[in-house]
Amino acid sequence: MSTKPESSRPRAPDTKKVHIADTPLTKHNWHKHVNWLNVTFIIGIPLYGCLQALWVPLQLKTAVWAVIYYFFTGLGITAGYHRLWAHCSYSATMPLRIWFALVGGGAVEGSARWWARGHRAHHRYTDTEKDPYSVRKGLLYSHLGWMVMKQNPKRIGRTDISDLNEDPVVVWQHRHYIKVVIAMGLIVPMCVAGLGWGDWWGGFVYAGILRIFFVQQATFCVNSLAHWLGDQPFDDRNSPRDHVITALVTLGEGYHNFHHEFPSDYRNAIEWHQYDPTKWTIWTLKQLGLAYDLKQFRSNEIEKGRVQQLQKKIDQKRAKLDWGVPLDQLPVMEWDDYVEQAKNGRGLIAVAGVVHDVTDFIKDHPGGKAMISSGIGKDATAMFNGGIYYHSNAAHNLLSTMRVSVIRGGCEVEIWKRAQKENSEYVRDETGQRIIRAGQQPTKIPEPIPTADAA
Ligand SMILES: [Zn+2]
Ligand SMILES: [Zn+2]
Repeated sequence: MSTKPESSRPRAPDTKKVHIADTPLTKHNWHKHVNWLNVTFIIGIPLYGCLQALWVPLQLKTAVWAVIYYFFTGLGITAGYHRLWAHCSYSATMPLRIWFALVGGGAVEGSARWWARGHRAHHRYTDTEKDPYSVRKGLLYSHLGWMVMKQNPKRIGRTDISDLNEDPVVVWQHRHYIKVVIAMGLIVPMCVAGLGWGDWWGGFVYAGILRIFFVQQATFCVNSLAHWLGDQPFDDRNSPRDHVITALVTLGEGYHNFHHEFPSDYRNAIEWHQYDPTKWTIWTLKQLGLAYDLKQFRSNEIEKGRVQQLQKKIDQKRAKLDWGVPLDQLPVMEWDDYVEQAKNGRGLIAVAGVVHDVTDFIKDHPGGKAMISSGIGKDATAMFNGGIYYHSNAAHNLLSTMRVSVIRGGCEVEIWKRAQKENSEYVRDETGQRIIRAGQQPTKIPEPIPTADAA
């Protein structure tokens, strides 16, 4: 960090009051750390609902209604708050925006404006201190700890929400949020059951309170489970993951690794067989003329990301393997020295100007001891490359692990140098290691060499 901002920034303790979230949690101050309003909304009210459920019988009609209303309000969050307002992945007509503002409010997860602001910060600063629900602070924290405990709003990353401030529906819902919550969270579900089949209490407890609890817990999983469980087919630098279980729980928001890579795509699941009811809903709304401008990344872009991630995985696997000492790191040996050492009993074999110590391998040679021994102290390039036996790709790989030096000026070294020149731009992986493809080992001579002594 540079010194300038350091000196110009006022030191907190002297002048300004320290935010409670920035002080350590102790036995005496823990209650000040708790956001009691949120605790009431996401823990207190559900507990009250559970107690009520003990004596309020559940009617079938009310149960069906609660499930339907669960989907309405859940989709208000996923299709409305998330894919429409936070990511602008499609456009919606005024009636649809009003609908989402109402049913999204009924999920009791804050106003669309507040929710989308935090979510944009989450995408921009994923896994950092500025991510309002960073999974790096723990699974429980990312699920609901971030709401239950007070956060210093200044620490959350800044994002631009000017577009949301220009949407009269978003502004209206933000202003009248409490009224929307009471009406859509409790009164509407109660009235439908009450006026419909006389089950006022059931509507209140099951379609109201307990439904709120389930919708909240389900959609909270996008911040917790989706950053914790599953695969990372597009990018593994951050925590978002793809998993069918998360998708099932979150109305299709479970393909979260894809989503963080392509956030403005109206889909989360790109395969037809993957569960993404939010995508299906948006698509249906388009057919009904209520949604338009659905954004979608070309599959070419999506596949590029997938291939790069696969490449990265392969590189990691490759880096763990023994490919032999790189040629340019091997000591140089004179030909006479090579012959001399082989005569003195060291099992040295030169192939394509590279010297290999096969002493410990002679007894294991699949072609027998005699064959391999006949190459010791000689130029075995031709023998190895088809003169006696056209060795397999695996044999070249194995030979590479035994190399100990290169021969100065040997004609095979010239072959190798020429090949190196032709191939001067070696393909290297992320760690700078040369990628040895099958058939590209330095001991491999492109054409099998027929020799007179093999006949
Ligand atoms: Zn996320
Ligand atoms: Zn998102």
